[in-house]
Parts: sequence; structure tokens; C-alpha cells
Amino acid sequence: MSSLRSLRPLAQSAITSSCRRLTPRAAATAIPVYAVQQQSRYASSKHPKGFTPPSADDLEELRERVQEFARREVSEEVAAAADKNNDFPASLWSKLGEAGFLGITADEDVGGLGLGYQAHCIVMEELSRASGSIALSYAAHSQLCVNQIQLHGTSKQKAKYLPKLTAGEWVGALAMSETGAGSDVVSMQMTAKETQDVDGRYGYLLNGSKMWITNGPYADVIVVYAKTKPDAGSKGMTAFLVETGSLPGFSCARKLDKMGMRGSPTGELVFDNVFVPADRMLGSLNGATRVLMSGLDLERLVLSAGPLGLMQAAMDVTLPYVHQRKQFGTPVAHFQLVQGKLADMYTKMQASRSYTYATARAIDETGNIRTQDCAGAILYAAERATECALDSIQLLGGMGYMEEMPASRILRDAKLYEIGAGTSEVRRMVIGRAFNKEYAHLA
Ligand SMILES: Cc1cc2nc3c(=O)[nH]c(=O)nc-3n(C[C@H](O)[C@H](O)[C@H](O)COP(=O)(O)OP(=O)(O)OC[C@H]3O[C@@H](n4cnc5c(N)ncnc54)[C@H](O)[C@@H]3O)c2cc1C
Repeated sequence: MSSLRSLRPLAQSAITSSCRRLTPRAAATAIPVYAVQQQSRYASSKHPKGFTPPSADDLEELRERVQEFARREVSEEVAAAADKNNDFPASLWSKLGEAGFLGITADEDVGGLGLGYQAHCIVMEELSRASGSIALSYAAHSQLCVNQIQLHGTSKQKAKYLPKLTAGEWVGALAMSETGAGSDVVSMQMTAKETQDVDGRYGYLLNGSKMWITNGPYADVIVVYAKTKPDAGSKGMTAFLVETGSLPGFSCARKLDKMGMRGSPTGELVFDNVFVPADRMLGSLNGATRVLMSGLDLERLVLSAGPLGLMQAAMDVTLPYVHQRKQFGTPVAHFQLVQGKLADMYTKMQASRSYTYATARAIDETGNIRTQDCAGAILYAAERATECALDSIQLLGGMGYMEEMPASRILRDAKLYEIGAGTSEVRRMVIGRAFNKEYAHLA
């Protein structure tokens, strides 16, 4: 496949293409309404310097390239094997890197494409359409790890970590959750105490454990959150970049066995007096809340494209089947009750798609991140994806219940999005709180 880097000059060209005629395929997946004006340049703290939003044509071209990659590298056989083997196909990391997908939002001088969040959502959606779990591991690497370093790393940290991560030589992860601290992440118990090692280097000793960490069993570099001031609540947390390679005191206690997302390795990590040099601090001392909260909005947005791909995958398996399968002498797709389910699936998918891409486009074009829309996009898409996957199983009848069809895998994968990256309940709380803040003057 030709390098995606050719898209960057395309994206930097004059932004007039949203007015161009779309191809029929592009028109079918085009997002209908945007309330934002296109701007050629603006100062955004969430994009590389000089970022220019890609045009509709650039994004369509990217989508076609990801689809081509997925057809070649993430076939149904690969997706089914990842699910069955409970493992990620390791050779895929370098292929994802070579294709340019691992650094979609990162600076070009460290191997990224600097294409922004609409582009990241497109890659996430199309990979999820091929395999929900491979895409989840992809997002943990490219968004939770790479983009966090891109946004909060020093130039030295970016130069050290991002080239290896964007090339797929290293696997990235983010470790925030603990057995006792999921939704209430600020209650985490992991500590980082200032210390000096035997060579006199200043740094921090990390102690504690992290739970449910995507890519944890294989990660080479992990963004780890710990308490540097345990009594200060959200004002006492710091983020660190931990290199795991033969690191004394660090171990993956176990690789977890999951109902879905089985191709995405999840681990419980143990830190027993792990020394981290002071220059591996990400962001400022006791400043992790800023890193964490700003990261969470963008994480929710990019992950909302996961359920979009899974809904498309459910349509992909259902539509041909119901048009071929005959009962009572008629394709079952011609029965009104079946048509009703197909219509509901399609409408839910398209509505979710519109919300995600409208939110991503607003961020790319104005730099303005609305917390309630990032949480809203994933809340809506995740719940709709579970519904679509259930409808898909129902429409496939007995075959829907068989593991030889992908429908049950799609359902098992989709359910994760109502839990991971904050549960549906927490997302509703986040949306409510954003309104409470906006209308505080009336209380
Ligand atoms: C496959 C997978 C991958 C993951 N990957 C990562 C990762 O890479 N890095 C990482 O740090 N974490 C990761 N997680 C952890 C994930 O973010 C947490 O599981 C999630 O935030 C929920 O936390 P919990 O499991 O402790 O549930 P709990 O917080 O114990 O919630 C249990 C139930 O109570 C509800 N609840 C909790 N608080 C409230 C409230 N205030 N109001 C209403 N309802 C509430 C929840 O919505 C839920 O229904 C992953 C999890 C999974 C399953």
C-alpha cells in the first residue's frame, strides 16, 4: 500500500473540497449537518502546530485506504482467529505502523501524520468493522498512549518514544484503573514516592497494581497514573512514562480472560518498588488530572468510532444473509418485521455516525472540545451497537447463535463499549455535570 504520508500535503492544500462533488460511495457515508465553519488555520492545543483540517475528499481517500488495509491484513479469518486464540496478531503492529495509522494525530517529525481526530475516528471505525478487538488494541496504543505523549510530552519525550510507537516497534498502553478504582479513578491507591536510585539518579518509586489494562501484557511503554500526594485527591496525581523492558519490580500478574474483545490482550499489572527516573514524568508534578481529563474527552470521541464499525459489521453480515435466506418461499428480508429491524439497525448506525463525526469535525475545525458531546457520542453509539448486534443475531436465526458466524463476536465486542473508557452511567453523569457547570449561574 502506498504511504499515507501523501495525505498530509493533500490535507494542507486549500480547503475548498468540502464543496466539491462527492463520489456516490462518499455521498452514501457523508455526514449530513455541521454547524461549524471551515477554518484553514487556528491555534489548537490538541493538534500539531500548523494543523489544517483535512478536506472531505482527503478523509474519503483515507477511509478507502484503511478499508483496503483491513481487507488485506484483517480478514474475517484473522479476526475470528484473534477471538478464538484470545490474542492479538503481533505481526500487525509493524504493518499498522508502516501504513501510518499508529500516529494519525502525532507530529510528522516523530513519524505521525498530523491528520486530526476525524481521521483517527475513520481509522478506528474501519478497523473495528474488520475486528472489534484488534481496533481496541489499536486505539489503546494510538490514542491512549501516543496521543497522550503527543499532547503532554516534552520535546525530548516525544523524540524518544513517538518514533518507535508510531512505527509499531513498541506497543503502548495507558494504566489508570485499579481493582478498587474504576469509575472513581481518583481513589486509586498506587503511589509514587520521590527517591534516588543507587546511581544517585532522582526519580520515583512506584508501588501498587493496575487492573484491566489494554495491551498491558505486551506493552513496551505505559502511561501510568499514580498518587504523588495521596491526601490531595485529584490534585495529588502524576502521570509517568514507564518503559517495561526488563524493569525490576514490574510484572504482568495475569492476562485476563474476557467474554469479548478477546483479540485485545488485557492485563493486571504489578509495580513493586519500580524506579522511574524523574525525566519520565508526563505533564507536571501533581498535574495528572489535567492530563487525564483532557485525554478522556478525546479518548471517548475516538473510541466512539469503535461501535460505529461494529454496527457496520453487523449490517455487513446481516444484509446479504436475509436476502439469501428463504422461508415460506420468500427471502426473509421481504417480511415487514425483518424490514423493520433492518431499518432500525441502519438508522441507529447512521445517527451515531453523524454524532461522532460532527463532534470530531468541530474539534478539528475550531479546537473546541465539548465534554458533553464526546461523552454523548460514545454513550449513544455504544448502546446502539449492542442493540444492532442483538438484532443481527435475531435476524440470522439459528446461524446467528453459531460461532461460525461473526454475529456473536460482534455482540461480545460491542458490549465492552458500554463499560470501558467509563461506563454508560458515568457518561450520563459527565453530560449532566457539564450542563450543571454551564448553568451554575442559575442555581
Ligand atoms: C476490556 C477492558 C479494557 C479496559 N482497558 C483499560 C485500559 O486500557 N486502561 C485503564 O486504565 N482501564 C481500562 N479498563 C477499565 C475500565 O475503564 C473500567 O472497567 C471502567 O471505568 C469501569 O470501572 P469498574 O469496572 O471498576 O466498574 P465500577 O466503577 O465498579 O462500576 C460498577 C457499576 O456501578 C456503576 N456506577 C459506578 N459509579 C457510579 C455512579 N457514581 N453513578 C451511577 N452508577 C455508577 C457503573 O456504571 C457500573 O454499572 C478496561 C476495562 C475493560 C473491561
